[in-house]
Amino acid sequence: MRRFLIAGNWKMNKTATEAVDLVRQFSAAAPKTTRVDVVMAPPFTALASVAQTLATLQSTVMLGAQNVFWEDRGAFTGEISAPMLQDLGCRYVIVGHSERRHLLGETDEVINKKVHALLRHGLTPIFCVGETREERQRGSTDGVIARQLAQGLRGVPAEQWPQLRLAYEPVWAIGTGEAATPEQAAAVHHHIRQVIASAWNAHCAAEVPILYGGSVTAANIAQFLAVPDINGGLVGGACLDPAAFAKIVMIAESTN
Ligand code: PEP
Repeated sequence: MRRFLIAGNWKMNKTATEAVDLVRQFSAAAPKTTRVDVVMAPPFTALASVAQTLATLQSTVMLGAQNVFWEDRGAFTGEISAPMLQDLGCRYVIVGHSERRHLLGETDEVINKKVHALLRHGLTPIFCVGETREERQRGSTDGVIARQLAQGLRGVPAEQWPQLRLAYEPVWAIGTGEAATPEQAAAVHHHIRQVIASAWNAHCAAEVPILYGGSVTAANIAQFLAVPDINGGLVGGACLDPAAFAKIVMIAESTN
C-alpha cells in the first residue's frame, strides 16, 4: 500500500479567526485518514489558532508553516525562526516555493540555509523546485531542476534524507488552472530521482517522497497519484475550500 502526503499551502489567506472555521469545516468533511498524512500550512498569524483547533478536534492533520528564517534568534526584524515554529507545534515547513523565489528574490543559497535550519531543529522541509514557462520552452527544465536540487540541498547528508520531502511545482502551473499533465509531471519526478541518485545515492532517490503541485484539484488529483513516482500533492487554491480539500484527501485515501 502506498502512503501519500497531501499538504495545503494557504498562502496569504485567512485571518486567525477565519482559519478556525476552515479547519472545523474541513474536519467535518474529511474522515480520519490512515494512509494519507495531511498538512495544513496557514499564515504565521494563524498557526496558534489552527494548532489549538486541531488539538480540540483531536485531528490527525499536522501543522505546517510557509517560511522560516535560517538563524535561531537575534536582530532579524520581521523574521520567524525554526524554534519558534517548533514551539507552536509545526512539523513541516515549505521552503523554496516559487512565490518566494520569484516575488521575494530568494536564492538557492538562502533556501539552502533555511533547509539546514529546519533539519537542525527536527522540522521537515517541503522543498520545492520548478521551472518557469520560459525555462520549459527553452528546453532547460531538467537543468533548472538539477541546479535547484544541487544548490538548495547542498550539504544535506544521506542520513538526513528521511527527514526531507520534495515538491515539483512548475511555476507556470501554480495558481493558473493549467496543471501539468501527469506525463509531464512523471518525467520531471523521474528526473529528480535520477539527479538525487547521482548526487546522493539510489536509496535517497527511491525513498524521498515527492509531491506534485500546480493547480491540483479534486478533479485531477487521482491522475497524479496514479503515477508511481508521485507521492502526494501540494495544494494551493483548492485547499482554501474545505470541501474540495477534504475530497482531495479522500481520493488519496482510496488510491492504491
Ligand atoms: C502552491 O502555491 O503551492 C500551489 C500549488 O498553488 P495552486 O494549487 O493554487 O496552483
